[in-house]
Amino acid sequence: MNIIVQKFGGTSVANRKRMGRVLEIVQRNLQPGNKLLVVLSAMSGETNRLVGLGNEWSSNPDPAEMDVLLTTGEQASTALFAMLCKDAGIKARSLQGHQICIRTNQDFGRARILSIDSQAIFDLFNEYDVLVVAGFQGCDCNSRVTTLGRGGSDTSAVALAAAIKATTCEIFTDVDGVYTTDPNVCSAARKLNRVSYDEMLEMASMGAKVLQIRSVEFAKKYNVPVHVRSTFSDECGTIVSQEDKSMEYVLVSGIAYDKDQARVTVFDVLDQPGVASSIFTPLAQQGVLVDMIIQNTSRDGHTDMTFTVQRADLQKTLDALNAVKNDIGAKELQYDTGVCKVSVIGVGMRNHSGVASKSFEALRDEGINLLMISTSEIKITMLIEDKYAELAVRTLHEAFELDKAPAERVCEL
Ligand code: ASP
Ligand code: MG
Repeated sequence: MNIIVQKFGGTSVANRKRMGRVLEIVQRNLQPGNKLLVVLSAMSGETNRLVGLGNEWSSNPDPAEMDVLLTTGEQASTALFAMLCKDAGIKARSLQGHQICIRTNQDFGRARILSIDSQAIFDLFNEYDVLVVAGFQGCDCNSRVTTLGRGGSDTSAVALAAAIKATTCEIFTDVDGVYTTDPNVCSAARKLNRVSYDEMLEMASMGAKVLQIRSVEFAKKYNVPVHVRSTFSDECGTIVSQEDKSMEYVLVSGIAYDKDQARVTVFDVLDQPGVASSIFTPLAQQGVLVDMIIQNTSRDGHTDMTFTVQRADLQKTLDALNAVKNDIGAKELQYDTGVCKVSVIGVGMRNHSGVASKSFEALRDEGINLLMISTSEIKITMLIEDKYAELAVRTLHEAFELDKAPAERVCEL
């Protein structure tokens, strides 16, 4: 038995006509020997509407009840689609998360999947050809309904594909794949045929609009290749999969950027053991995501510490730093919100040098100053003034010839 998992997002099930297109795709794949597990999102706009309702009813909505409310969106879309399948003569039924024991932790609003009753699914396939499963939801050990965070249906689909060892996992959406960069910023952006899990995770700032990042972590952990493609065209999309030899030849896969950043500097902290932990432990406790940490060389037993945080966390960060400022001997705190992170990403840079220098030269030629630099095995990140964000993205995209197919790039370095 071939089990195919196909997930359709909110715009793909937005109304009866669009669901008709989904039905066509399902029918096409329902050949002898195939069984389909169709994961659906709520009809587009519905989850936002429900969030609004919850907030209208309560100034501090109970998270568990909020999850009960939000899961009704997927309950409706799965029921409606199962009706269309039945009317078309397909043996199909809808399933809510708890009916196939999609067990999660108790972190309401952003729960993590712990296990799935795959046997229950196999048993149902004895009776049905298409199972229409509600994405985004599960239940905790007390049978309370949970949701997996916004965009969580992607994670439902990947987790289900892993649990039942599906032959294919396709994520149908309203874009035709993952691009070399944000096409709204750079019109030369190209669709990637393939991208590795690690690159996709690094492209989070752009990729997250296409796939929930957690679904990529899940896919990586269980090695589920994911095909992201458009519901509205028959073209192939982007395959997100494990890295292989062919990917190494592509030096740079994409350029990501993130404007939601602030830079913070703590001046003249004592250069002695424990100071970094005095700064960053309170931030971690507050759930602040810290990135690009730089510690200066020491002068007279003191040093400066600079790092970036998400803009929304800036106030929390400053409050936490003010609380420890005297203990660590800091003289001054400075911050800057007019900054943007631009990253050059590619698994090919593991085996090549020169990507950093080429990136720096390209930005130099445009007169863009680098405020901070950090590197990892497959990524070079530069912090720049945010007014240059778009220019930097386009410049780097051109410098690495990302507008061309990988085989046509002359000499990347
Ligand atoms: N309906 C949920 C949301 O809008 C989950 C999903 O669509 O993936 O976030
Ligand atoms: Mg989505």
